Amino acid sequence: MGRYITNPKTLQGTLRVSRVHSNIEDDFIDFELIDEASRLIVCNVKMSIAEYGDLISGSSNVPCEIQLFDTSRVGMQHEHKTEIIPRPKNLSSSDEELRAHVKPWETDGWVASIRDIKNHHLWVGKDGMRVGFDRWVSVEDDIPTSCECDNTHQAVDSVCRYCWSKGRRHWDDPEVE
Ligand SMILES: [Zn+2]
Repeated sequence: MGRYITNPKTLQGTLRVSRVHSNIEDDFIDFELIDEASRLIVCNVKMSIAEYGDLISGSSNVPCEIQLFDTSRVGMQHEHKTEIIPRPKNLSSSDEELRAHVKPWETDGWVASIRDIKNHHLWVGKDGMRVGFDRWVSVEDDIPTSCECDNTHQAVDSVCRYCWSKGRRHWDDPEVE
C-alpha cells in the first residue's frame, strides 16, 4: 500500500502504454502519464515485459522505474501571442538590457522571447518589432467570459480557457455555447 498526501490535485489526463523496441536492452513497456491541460508528460513508468505480464494477469505489486518530470506547469495551459513594440535602440545590448527594454510589456505573466528581440527579420516599419510572448496559466484561474480561441490554439490543437471550462479540449471538438 502506498501513502496518500493531503490535498491532492485532480487533473484530466491520458495514460498511454507502449511496447518499446530497443537495440541496447530488452524490449520494455513504457507508461506515459500526460496532463491534458499542459500536454506535458508528468511521469514515465518503465517495466519489463515479464513484469507487465504479471501486472495484467492480476499480480498487485509489480516493480517499475518511475521518471518524474518538473510538475510546476502541470494543470496549466500554454498561451502565445505576438505584439508589435518599439525596438531597442541598441541591438547589441546584453540580454539583461533587452529584458529591461521589454519589461513594460511583460504584464499578467507574459514573457517576451529574447530570441525574437534579437531577430531583425521581425522588424516592422521604422522602429517597431514583432515579438512573441508566452505564458502559462492555470486552467482554473481567471476564466474569460467568452471564447478567446485563435490560431495560436489551433497550432497546438488546444482551446482557450473559456472553452476548456465548458468541456471542449481539442481544436476539432464541437464549439461550445
Ligand atoms: Zn475558445
